[in-house]
Amino acid sequence: MTYYIADSAVFIMGNCDLDSSLIITVPSVAEELKSGDASLRFDLAKEGGLRVEWPDPEMVKEVRKMAELTRDSEELSKTDLEILAKALEYRDKGLLLTDDYAVQNVAVQLGIQVKPIAQKKIKDIIIWQKQCIGCKKTFDKGDVCPICGSPLKKKRKKSRKEKSYF
Ligand SMILES: [Zn+2]
Repeated sequence: MTYYIADSAVFIMGNCDLDSSLIITVPSVAEELKSGDASLRFDLAKEGGLRVEWPDPEMVKEVRKMAELTRDSEELSKTDLEILAKALEYRDKGLLLTDDYAVQNVAVQLGIQVKPIAQKKIKDIIIWQKQCIGCKKTFDKGDVCPICGSPLKKKRKKSRKEKSYF
């Protein structure tokens, strides 16, 4: 049996083909759904058996660690971390449904199966870098260039899919 770990987009986009009793999500996703339609879909799914589970703090820790390595941590909200933690817990029997690029990126590195809702699945792993707008040097982090003092801008650095961080 495959469970669907659903982030907010599932309810916002209204993906209704799923068996509600196989959907699992986290409390922060429920909190995020402010729009009438999305929260209505959420309530309907809940009536159909959707489970709202708290993430395991140990799993959240592991997700955070990976997000640091892939430099996606700045992009991830609390909800993103929690949904990733839940997907990690169900790694062997779950499918993470998300359209969020940073979430997908971290999920792939954690060995989580990802299914996009509307967008195409990413093929390459994205590594974030900061690039100086003045001298164009790239850095791992920071806001100001240590060489020329110009602001640093976020930049995507692609790497091969096989690249491992371990
Ligand atoms: Zn510079």
